[in-house]
Parts: sequence; structure tokens; C-alpha cells
Amino acid sequence: MPPMSENPVRRVSRLVVASHNQGKVDEIAALLGPLGIAPVSAGSLGLSEPEETEDTFVGNAVLKADAAAAESGEACLADDSGLAVSALGGAPGIYSARWAGEPRDFNRAMQRVWDEVQAAGAQDLRARFICVLALKRPGEAAEIFEGAVEGVLTWPPRGDRGFGYDPMFTPDGYAITFGEMEPDEKHRISHRARAFEKLVASLK
Ligand code: IMP
Repeated sequence: MPPMSENPVRRVSRLVVASHNQGKVDEIAALLGPLGIAPVSAGSLGLSEPEETEDTFVGNAVLKADAAAAESGEACLADDSGLAVSALGGAPGIYSARWAGEPRDFNRAMQRVWDEVQAAGAQDLRARFICVLALKRPGEAAEIFEGAVEGVLTWPPRGDRGFGYDPMFTPDGYAITFGEMEPDEKHRISHRARAFEKLVASLK
């Protein structure tokens, strides 16, 4: 039996990225390009955007990958990510984007995190960013790849790089927040980078 990577049935040459966020699609395209895999965005195929109804990162990533695969009939990749704060029992977690309200305002979301940590009287400021990728090949169960980066909450927020909760997160081993960090450096150590390393290893 040939090794998996030589099995033409399992090899992927084109992957639907089940995200309507062009920034995410571009980031994923840059990572998949060197592997000879062409990414196609869910938006360009006119796929619908399912509601994230599960209560775990894995559940929501699989839900998005399954929905895109069912509509397109192709191999699909979806991700779900967020910030998990120890003192808040892992919140905002899967609700990270939703804590920013509509229209999205991450200053409001960061303030809420800090207020809730203060209200809990917590001394523990540990937090982690989590990324789960789900790769769905037609007819197969989705494969899961997880990455995390550990750190501490920082207040007040610092830095105007990155996005989301970056200005209030200092990764372990650094004295600067993700919001202050060179993007290349963040992309080397981030939860997303770690999940992608595992995905890429499995696609090679
Ligand atoms: P998703 O698009 O449903 O996965 O939402 C992820 C949310 O988690 C984003 O809107 C951000 O609020 C937060 N998040 C995920 N990754 C990062 C990151 O690298 N930096 C800052 N915030 C992040």
C-alpha cells in the first residue's frame, strides 16, 4: 500500500476555504501555495455562511467545513478561533467575535474581558489563543488540527498592530503584546501558525 501522501484519492489539489473573511482566505492562500494547493474562497463559490451553533471550537469548525463540503462537493477547510481566559473559565472562547458586538468593536470586547476579570477578583491573568482547523474531504469525517499560544492579559491594551484582542495579550517569553509585535513574528508563533503546521504536515 502506498504511503498516504502518494495516494491520489487523498491528495488535495484544490481546497475550498470555508470563510467569508478575505483576510483569512489570503493568509491561508499564502500558506497553501507552496504545497501546490489552490485555495478557493467560499464567497467566490457563493456558498452560504452557516450560523455557529455549536459550543466548542471543534464543533464550530467542523460545522463550517461540513456545510461547505455538502454545498460544494469539494474538500473544504474551516477554522474557528478565539481567546480563552483562565479566570473566566475559558470565556470569551467561541464567543470572542460576538463579544465585540455589532458593528464589531474590539475596544469594547477587551474592556468587557478586563471588567469581568476585575469583577471576579482574579489574580490569575493567564490566557491563551486557540485555533482549530477542520479539513473535510468529501465522504470522510473531518480531520482536526489544533494550535494554541499561551500568555497573560495586559492592561491597558498596547499596540496598534494585529486585530481583535491582540493589544491585551502578551505571549509567554515576550515583554510586548501581539498588538506591538512585528506581524511576521506573530505569524511565526501564533495559535493559527501552530494549527497550520500540523495541517501542512498532514497534507505533504
Ligand atoms: P472566528 O472568525 O469565529 O474564528 O472569530 C475569531 C475571533 O477570535 C476574532 O474575531 C478575534 O476576536 C479573536 N481572535 C482570533 N484569533 C485572534 C488573534 O490572533 N488575535 C486577536 N484576536 C483573535
